[in-house]
Amino acid sequence: MIKINENYTKLKASYLFADIAKRVNAFIEANPDKPVIKLGIGDVTEPLPPACIAALHAATDEMADRATFKGYGPEQGYGFLRDAIAANDYAARGCSIAADEIFVSDGSKCDCANIQEIFSEDVSLAIPDPVYPVYTDTNVMAGRTGGDVDDRYQGITYLESTPENSYIPSIPEGASDLIYLCFPNNPTGAVATKAQLAEWVAYAKKNKAIILFDSAYEAFIRDPEIPHSIYEIEGADKVAIEFRSFSKIAGFTGTRCAYTVVPKALLAYDTAGKEHSLHALWNRRHTTKFNGVSYPIQKAAAAIFTNEGMAQTKALTDFYLENAKLIRESITALGYSCIGGDNAPYIWINTGTDSWAFFDKLLNEAQVVCTPGAGFGTCGEGHVRISAFNSLANVETALKRIAVAMKK
Ligand code: PLP
Repeated sequence: MIKINENYTKLKASYLFADIAKRVNAFIEANPDKPVIKLGIGDVTEPLPPACIAALHAATDEMADRATFKGYGPEQGYGFLRDAIAANDYAARGCSIAADEIFVSDGSKCDCANIQEIFSEDVSLAIPDPVYPVYTDTNVMAGRTGGDVDDRYQGITYLESTPENSYIPSIPEGASDLIYLCFPNNPTGAVATKAQLAEWVAYAKKNKAIILFDSAYEAFIRDPEIPHSIYEIEGADKVAIEFRSFSKIAGFTGTRCAYTVVPKALLAYDTAGKEHSLHALWNRRHTTKFNGVSYPIQKAAAAIFTNEGMAQTKALTDFYLENAKLIRESITALGYSCIGGDNAPYIWINTGTDSWAFFDKLLNEAQVVCTPGAGFGTCGEGHVRISAFNSLANVETALKRIAVAMKK
């Protein structure tokens, strides 16, 4: 008799965005004359930069010609893209990451989800709360946790982000083997300083642990003191894997291209205590289970690193950050405290009330959709996330409606 992976039965039944969609659809059905503005899901709204589109068209034409047609490419990504990433995202910031330490993929979601496969089933986990749910759910699926008790999976050390610690989790007292960090953070928009990341690097070194650093939103950092990469911290290449995505910097959420950095200096151990290269393990995993991102998409991604591409993607992230600033200012003016929105596209509002109740109020009275913080974890309760991914006109209209509905 065929049996299921019973770890899947431990997963919480409902999915946050499905719950939101259900409530929003019910509202729209009951109020067809009231247009709803969605500032909930973190998807981009603006089209791909012209430099990417031109590269995509040119590469598509190459695929139409026998002389330039490409079949399977290297699973790890074409050299032209890996070289451009190494030069622009790392060497330019003083980080010595080699092109062959970069693995191009079709998204950070898959990479964040898949990376845990190369670690033992019994590694101990430290995962932020609130959190991008992929980190937790994939470890539940892999059987690294117990069941869900009061909204927390047993066996995980939760790294709490609260108003008390300015939404930057403290280093845990005990040792954890695998630590997930995300800065600029989804959902809070918080950023970590070099000193804060250096503490995590020291902790990982001391415990022979690995940090999984999700830097999907680095392109929104404007404060010159805030690190864009964990490799800006001395010694991080011996303890950290970094995930980056072109989704938010250049509107690739539907186009799909991202990359993961696995430095060759990273080591982990077998039960006999023998050292193993994580780069070699990930290379084995990636080449066995993945067949590369398509050539035209990698060409479009490489165009981000041309002069025009860099100017266009900067304009794109500036545009969203301008929306974020407006949101942050309006929400603060209404008397709520919030963080994010200055180096991140998300604003995390401390509502002081039940987050689903706040969501319902905003939907019913302002016809604006936000994301209830409780959906991101226990510490998200009392908060909502507002996203800056929308048109300026929609953001302005939403803020006017919120001001009327939420005046304290
Ligand atoms: N990591 C974080 C923190 C995210 O918020 C997201 C997407 O919203 C991703 C990763 C996934 O990015 P991608 O589109 O590259 O799969």
